[in-house]
Amino acid sequence: MQKIINEIKLDFDDVLLIPQRSTLTSRSEINLERKFYFYHSTRTWTGIPIICANMSFCSFDMAKALAKYKMIACLHKYHTVDELSNYFNEYPEQIPYCFVSIGYKKSDLNKLLEFKNKTNIQPNICIDVPNGHMDVFVKYCKKVRDHFPESIILAGNVTNTSSTQELLIYGGVDVVKCGIGGGSACTTRFITGCGVPQLTCCLDNSYVAHGLQNGDKKLGLICSDGGHKNSGDVCKALCAGADFVMLGGYFAGTDPCDGEWEYEYLARKAGIADEFWQPIDSGSNGPVRKTTFTYYGMSTHHAQDLYEDSIKEYRASEGTKIKVAFKGPIDKVIQELLGGIRSSCCYIGSSSIKNMSKCGQFCRVNHIHSNIKPLFGV
Ligand code: 5GP
Repeated sequence: MQKIINEIKLDFDDVLLIPQRSTLTSRSEINLERKFYFYHSTRTWTGIPIICANMSFCSFDMAKALAKYKMIACLHKYHTVDELSNYFNEYPEQIPYCFVSIGYKKSDLNKLLEFKNKTNIQPNICIDVPNGHMDVFVKYCKKVRDHFPESIILAGNVTNTSSTQELLIYGGVDVVKCGIGGGSACTTRFITGCGVPQLTCCLDNSYVAHGLQNGDKKLGLICSDGGHKNSGDVCKALCAGADFVMLGGYFAGTDPCDGEWEYEYLARKAGIADEFWQPIDSGSNGPVRKTTFTYYGMSTHHAQDLYEDSIKEYRASEGTKIKVAFKGPIDKVIQELLGGIRSSCCYIGSSSIKNMSKCGQFCRVNHIHSNIKPLFGV
């Protein structure tokens, strides 16, 4: 093994997409939907390949809001079987866009089996562990696959291409979730010194995943997870070969987030759009608005404390707490994101999200950002 890999691994901020000649005439021509076939699952999936991370704020309101756009919500793993059954019963049309998350625990798998027995539904599944490189994880994923042959299985996280190959070939996984240490509420890089810059992670892992085929159009796929601060980073991930992009912090603070809100009880201010004001409950008649939202890395003691009986003493928290300003209705944030992707496609001459990885060419840069931040972002 080479002790130091000298080749530089790149993050989103280390590159820009080079504008290209284009025959496109309007942003409205851009096709944002993709149709996927999967390495194992016999299902096909059509939609916009953006996923809300299975963090504590991703609950049913988020799922409803995203399903409108044919985007995916990975529900956090603490919903009960009854809650899940009721939701899927009430909104059967949202089943393709609503993934049920589990971790690496016997009780997690048991819950999923109980759900299947009760509803006769094989839901799409997100298997999420901090370090998916472990051999036992591949075996665990295979076990889930054996119980849920039809489900689309998204699992990770890994950064190593060999683990991506193994999860696809032997673990029964359809989409490998790639990225360690890049998340907005993640402190893994500081606590453990481990991680891989996300752009390189996408480039390398999509390359090996797309090289694996299990029948007509049934390729291995990846999802880029962690560190997308703005729509530009999402565009870079898609150009680097990510089939799906998972966002946590980007959606945190939008209207449908479940969790810790702060409110302000003030008279309406001139200049603040009406939709930013809303009552906390139907009984309140004064002007009240959401001001901030606090979210927690899922490995923080706080996030685990909310739901789990005991915190393991041998585990360090690799997450932190972040307070963000209220971002308003999620539709605005999504429109901003999709507008950014459409515009990026126009700059690089791509007629669709699907073609972004073919059209996008990167140049390395020393420094791209001044202090300017987009309206929405992390
Ligand atoms: P973001 O879009 O916020 O940059 O990244 C979201 C991703 O961060 C999640 O999908 C998950 O993979 C990762 N993440 C969430 N909470 C934690 C945590 O407490 N610790 C670590 N290491 N990663 C986390």
